[in-house]
Amino acid sequence: MTEHIFNYMSNYGYEKVLLFQNEDVGLRAILAIHSTVLGPAAGGTRMWTYASDLDAIEDAMRLARGMTYKYAAAGVNLGGGKVVIIGDPKTQKSEMLFRALGRFINNLRGEYLTGEDVGTTLQDMDYIRMETPYVITLAQESGGAGPIGGATAFGVLQAMKACALETWGSPDLQGRKIVVQGLGAVGHPMAEYLVKENAHVTIADIDAARMAQVQQTFGVKTMDAREVFAADADIYCPCALGGVVNDETLDQFRVKIICGSANNQLRAEKHGDALKRRGILYAPDYIANAGGTVFDTDRLWGGVNAQRGMNKVAKIFERMRQVIEISKTQNIPTSLAADRIAEERIAQARAIKKIGGYNQGTLPTF
Ligand code: NAD
Repeated sequence: MTEHIFNYMSNYGYEKVLLFQNEDVGLRAILAIHSTVLGPAAGGTRMWTYASDLDAIEDAMRLARGMTYKYAAAGVNLGGGKVVIIGDPKTQKSEMLFRALGRFINNLRGEYLTGEDVGTTLQDMDYIRMETPYVITLAQESGGAGPIGGATAFGVLQAMKACALETWGSPDLQGRKIVVQGLGAVGHPMAEYLVKENAHVTIADIDAARMAQVQQTFGVKTMDAREVFAADADIYCPCALGGVVNDETLDQFRVKIICGSANNQLRAEKHGDALKRRGILYAPDYIANAGGTVFDTDRLWGGVNAQRGMNKVAKIFERMRQVIEISKTQNIPTSLAADRIAEERIAQARAIKKIGGYNQGTLPTF
């Protein structure tokens, strides 16, 4: 992609890609803004070691586009953007590195809003916040919504219930055999929600100590993390890594539903089609896992209000039903149906923008 970067930008509708550098503090960062049609571009700051600068640019661009779709499909009035800092998050972080980034972000006057991502923490967000108000993800004591894993899990639960309704005629998860893979910020509360639903929960994590702790807390079964794909279960709930639906795992699945929080669950677009052909109902990742984002950004329109935020997250149930409906009527995989919802919303917002003026009612306040 990157040797033809301008072609790629026009093919996929990117607005801009910016490079930030400050040698004094060792900052090298890329900001990709995919779309500001629905509102300011928003998306986290990732810190990672990349094999090349072009790899970093490609990652920032891919992730920014993903954010556009996620917000659009969730009905949040934000566009998609992402910052990637090139560097090792274990050894190359400093207060001033993040403050330098904050200054660059501030100079954009709200065109881009940032947050936490792989390799960055709420502490890092506090540093950015020293230089700019344009930070979404913050600790509660810093004025933010705090940790969002629980809200993400609640959203996954809604999507799962919508899938259950379609598959078995009832959203009830009682007695359903569900395998939860990964017991981190999302998987842990996910297991708890499912136990409360009286589902038969089996957990798997490569971290044996974590798995033992969750097993003891909730009295659930455990399984070897390598066996989750072939598990004898009704629902597979991936809450660890991406790429779990691929050429190797496809023929192993015995479940009727795949619904979890992991990002980029389909290794390739074709795998969405393959699941459909096998009669497995797939909850598109960015539909099912939008809960944390919906909860986190809610405060931009009226301040932190946990109840209001969770009410918005609950709407993922209806959103998932809509995805299923489009998938059935248009005979396309659910993954594509989700894209259609997002693309249609963006196209309509673009159309009304032709009228001119400001979208005063939908702009977030800082
Ligand atoms: P986390 O790092 O807190 O937890 C991940 C867990 O998965 C860890 O316990 C880890 O040991 C385990 N794990 C890793 N590889 C595994 C494997 N092969 N088999 C079984 N377990 C394995 O991450 P998280 O914040 O809970 O996020 C989980 C997934 O959901 C990620 O893909 C993330 O991008 C996505 N996601 C998270 C949120 C959120 O609110 N945190 C929101 C949207 C999407």
